[in-house]
Amino acid sequence: MSRFLSEKLSALEAYVPGEQPKIKRYIKLNTNESPYPPPKCVADAVGRQEIEDLRLYSDPECTALKAKLADLYGVKEKNVFLSNGSDEILNFAFMAYGENGAVFPDITYGFYSVFADLYGVNAEIVPLNDDFTVDINAFCGKNRLVVLANPNAPTGIALGLSEIEKIVSSNPDGVVIIDEAYVDFGAQSAYKLTEKYDNLLVVETYSKSRSMAGARLGFAFADEGIISDLERIKYSTNPYNINRITQIAGTAALVNQEYFNENCRKIAETREYVKEELRKMGFKVTDSVANFLFAKSDKISGSKLYTSLKERGILIRHFEAERIKDYNRITVGSREEMEIFLDAVREIIIGGIV
Ligand code: PMP
Repeated sequence: MSRFLSEKLSALEAYVPGEQPKIKRYIKLNTNESPYPPPKCVADAVGRQEIEDLRLYSDPECTALKAKLADLYGVKEKNVFLSNGSDEILNFAFMAYGENGAVFPDITYGFYSVFADLYGVNAEIVPLNDDFTVDINAFCGKNRLVVLANPNAPTGIALGLSEIEKIVSSNPDGVVIIDEAYVDFGAQSAYKLTEKYDNLLVVETYSKSRSMAGARLGFAFADEGIISDLERIKYSTNPYNINRITQIAGTAALVNQEYFNENCRKIAETREYVKEELRKMGFKVTDSVANFLFAKSDKISGSKLYTSLKERGILIRHFEAERIKDYNRITVGSREEMEIFLDAVREIIIGGIV
């Protein structure tokens, strides 16, 4: 830290992303990326001309991409916002709507508390129930910024649409963010409710189900008013927030919905298989409907399992927070990767190398 950093920022605890190893080739089950590549039409869409065109700025209005997304989801373009990863939307929303404080669960996506700190937003942290489900009533009638991941991370547990609606309708004077980074793997999206409620912001991403984490592309649905707030911040920070290649790749990716649906289906199927196998080994596993599992074993600590797997070339995600330190979050990879993972866990647990 330099002596020039503003006092306000010097105490900030930054978000710590999962490891992105540069040397050894790990089986990467630690950052919820897709094991499958983007559809072939994405590679086909980025040719020499598109590379040469990189001399030009990108389209700040993301015209083609926005039109295609709006068409696919059956919404109006004025109700869509595009961003450099969905983290950017969350960033803007905390900046825009956090003035009267924010409410989110104790166990959830770690970036919410980082954004709250960054903008001096007073955060009310609501504990999840003992079984890691959300206490719905604790999020009703708050009338300030409410932030929920659905499915939640790192538990993977989802709320139903009627529960989401209850929270949204009981907070008419506060924005409710539903972060749907993992929605495509088995939860219900609330985006259609944005037609009914002007305080709902539904955030989605290309990073997980659309296999494009490295392209950094997020999108959101909301009433025109909220979208124009987000646009205002975008045009006050970085109008060209989505680069040319990502706009082209993101538009092309939407052409092949069959491939997307099939990948989601395969990942959900593999998730259920691994969930069952872990339970057979005595793991306690939450009912995740995301592309990851959240599991703990009485036979080995969370951190020991994490390091033992790492020694075997498999990366999973371990969190130090007291309530979840016995757990690990395991991204659902390909069936082959998960067989290797399960064999390694069996060896560690049953082999008694604990
Ligand atoms: N929300 C949740 C719940 C996440 O887990 C992530 C991924 N770390 C994000 C949002 C952000 O994803 P991205 O910026 O890659 O779209």
